[in-house]
Amino acid sequence: MKCLSCQYEMPIDQHQILCPKCGGLMEIIVEPLKDFSFSKLRGKGVWRYKELIPGSYKSIVSINEGNTPLIKSSNINGNLYFKFEGLNPTGSFKDRGMTVAVSSAVSLDYKTVIAASTGNTAASASAYAARAGIKSFIVLPKGKVALGKLAQSILYGSVILEVDGSFDVAMDAVMKLYKDLKIVYPLNSFNPWRLEGQKTIAFEIIEELGVPDNVIVPVGNAGNIYAIWKGFNELVKVGVIDRIPRMIGVQAEGASPIASAIIKGKDTPDFIENPDTIATAIRIGKPVNWQKAVRAIKESGGTAIIVSDSEILDAQKTLARKEGIGAEPASATALAGYFKAINDKIVDKDEKTVLILTGHSLKDPDSMTKADAKRILVNPLHIEKIILGEINGSNS
Ligand SMILES: *Cc1c(COP(=O)(O)O)cnc(C)c1O
Ligand SMILES: [Zn+2]
Repeated sequence: MKCLSCQYEMPIDQHQILCPKCGGLMEIIVEPLKDFSFSKLRGKGVWRYKELIPGSYKSIVSINEGNTPLIKSSNINGNLYFKFEGLNPTGSFKDRGMTVAVSSAVSLDYKTVIAASTGNTAASASAYAARAGIKSFIVLPKGKVALGKLAQSILYGSVILEVDGSFDVAMDAVMKLYKDLKIVYPLNSFNPWRLEGQKTIAFEIIEELGVPDNVIVPVGNAGNIYAIWKGFNELVKVGVIDRIPRMIGVQAEGASPIASAIIKGKDTPDFIENPDTIATAIRIGKPVNWQKAVRAIKESGGTAIIVSDSEILDAQKTLARKEGIGAEPASATALAGYFKAINDKIVDKDEKTVLILTGHSLKDPDSMTKADAKRILVNPLHIEKIILGEINGSNS
């Protein structure tokens, strides 16, 4: 393990979440296995790749996460694929990280877990803690969490702590709490063990498709884009693939510290005090994993893209109406970013491109109802007339 801040290096130790010297973020560096091959693997989902996931686990807390479909576009572009992470057990990719982090917590005999969240980490942490039979606290920005996500945490039985302020305020509180009170295990993505689960997105893409040219990822706290890049990188090291796709990060206009820095060619982002976007899952002004994300983007020869809320909602609707796939607004940023990348000639339409659709549309019912649809109050006796009018175009 290596500290990103002070460069301190130590042998892999599952107890370590932050640097024991300076409290900085740690990176887990996995020794490449000899004779690794996908054909020897058994099972499905995240734990299919257990050989590539460091740590030792007394018991595995799993709800069959991962093994999500890679759906080929049928009406937007035949070279475009959607990795639909919305089909994980709680409806987002967070489950891939949570199975590893909660299994770690249980193996280390923790009885209590905590997570700050814009909603999906909370839903996932609540479910996995419930499955493990341990207590969970979640810290949410009050009034800023999509209804489906809040409802999940209520159902799974977490203690819900709501703060006045943004996700960043909640995140700071959890980080401080963990530093002061070591008996509560943190499930945010500053916990590098979570990213070890999330990297399996890369493994599944390679097993099914081979190496795409581009992978486009919505970026919030910025752990996932790094985790996926790390997965590709580890496959290069074991000799399964010989190149890494370009990692392209997408952020929303009102919450784009990393993308702004990349676009301006700056090495460090300017954090944003009051981030705002309809894509609540990535409504983050101070991404804790920014160093890791910048590295993934730069070392893969990728870039970053900024999209507006109206482009996000348009993309969400296009994805639903052209492909039949329902993704939450944060996930739709990947498609909005793809359209922009094609337009700006960052990506060619002939290149094989995978969009990471991070979460399910049912997470955020309010956003779905913003899509325009005809809703007509009818007298049942007039339905026939209305349908014929619609079909013949006279009511349009
Ligand atoms: C968490 C989340 C993201 C952002 O992932 P990071 O690792 O924080 O960058 C994007 N979309 C959805 C739906 C999420 O839940
Ligand atoms: Zn350090």
